[in-house]
Amino acid sequence: MEKTVHIAVVPGPGFSHLVPILQFSKRLVQLHPNFHVTCLIPTLVSPPSASISILQTLPPNINTIFLQPVKPEDLPQGATIETQIQLIVALSMPSIHQALKTLTSRTRFVALVADSSAFDALDFAKEFNMLSYIYLPISATTLSWYFYVPMLDKETSCEYRDFPEPIKIPGCVPIHGRDLNNIVRDRSSEVYKTFLQRAWRFRFVDGVLMNTFLEMETSPIRALKEEGRGYPPVYPVGPIVQSGGDDTKGLECETWLDKQQVGSVLYVSFGSGGTLSQEQINELACGLELSNYKFLWVVRAPSSLASDAYLSAQKDVDPLHFLPCGFLERTKEKGMVVPSWAPQIQVLSHSSVGGFLTHCGWNSILERVLKGVPFITWPLFAEQRMNAVLLCEGLKVGVRPRVSENGLVQREEIVKVIKCLMEGEEGGKMSGRMNELKEAATNALKEDGSSTKTLSLLALKWKSLV
Ligand code: UDP
Repeated sequence: MEKTVHIAVVPGPGFSHLVPILQFSKRLVQLHPNFHVTCLIPTLVSPPSASISILQTLPPNINTIFLQPVKPEDLPQGATIETQIQLIVALSMPSIHQALKTLTSRTRFVALVADSSAFDALDFAKEFNMLSYIYLPISATTLSWYFYVPMLDKETSCEYRDFPEPIKIPGCVPIHGRDLNNIVRDRSSEVYKTFLQRAWRFRFVDGVLMNTFLEMETSPIRALKEEGRGYPPVYPVGPIVQSGGDDTKGLECETWLDKQQVGSVLYVSFGSGGTLSQEQINELACGLELSNYKFLWVVRAPSSLASDAYLSAQKDVDPLHFLPCGFLERTKEKGMVVPSWAPQIQVLSHSSVGGFLTHCGWNSILERVLKGVPFITWPLFAEQRMNAVLLCEGLKVGVRPRVSENGLVQREEIVKVIKCLMEGEEGGKMSGRMNELKEAATNALKEDGSSTKTLSLLALKWKSLV
């Protein structure tokens, strides 16, 4: 009988940093049943219910250990999402160390895989004789930027958003400085300095697993693999997307979608925690209404902070109260509005959905790529603007609304992009390209597909260490 190969994984805080690494673990043990994964979970208070329902679907060869939860009062008030995530991980480090000590005293663990936001946990790999890997639930384009930024930082001094020309990251579509990830917005900030150190340290791990696939990001992946750059080995193993989980709202959405024509509905969602301001909710509502298209909109209560609901659910507010007066009544034949959370995987799988207005979270993008319908890109925070550039200018499968000088996307602009996506010639071309991408994504996951082979190579390496 083959020996069991043990690995430990450390997700980052938040749904979209927990679920991807769990999904990766599921895929690993499904393809290689002699693997056993132990997942050490840092949390703020307790995990959101959507995460809990996914945890309940894990197979027996994936164990979860909840680390001592961080208390909200230990985080500074008004801290950015990036700072909060960094602090939750930092405060969880003693529990991660203790858990690894206990685990490795009983069993040989060959590898430690940490989500990029829990990167610091990899400091313990050497002590416990484990190889160290980052799991990136983001694009190869973003990883290329991480590797490139320390060099650009040395060569330049002004803010990246003030660069006159788009930045040419090796292998990637040129990206304007204002579209880079939020963390690099202020080069004098602590959060930027920490990011920079981390981006440099990324080079010294044993490998980086990326939830992307060769056929979607051919050029950035090739550039990452080029010898002589001093980068660690990269493993594109995606697209790995969510499966299982809560579907109590599924039936309601599905019943509504069943009644709509094929490809007629625009699905509107800003990820697991993205929020809009009250003014922007008003504009979006009016835009949807004026466009005359069918829509399914996941609505959250307004906030001036776009990532407000990311780490903890909004409480005690009914998001529907913040919609413009009479909106629900006027659009009841055209739209379905879901408060806070929709069963996205099921929604995106439905044949009635013909377009996706997304905040460009990487998971949402991959989920849609596997279904093959184009995007309206509405990035909010983190590296979402970089993803929007990749979709619209690189892969040409998305259209991005213009933000006006007052910081809002106006209703007329919303109508324009919806029409472009749902009925225009450009929309048709984007659909064609999305279908090609969908086929490539499906193939990458087949037995002889690029991502399956990549994961098997890595598994083979880990097995050889037992
Ligand atoms: N999601 C969902 N229902 C919602 C909103 C989000 O199931 O109403 C899931 C979505 O399917 C995806 C994840 O939450 O798996 C969001 O991850 P993404 O990387 O797109 O965005 P983030 O949450 O990091 O902003």
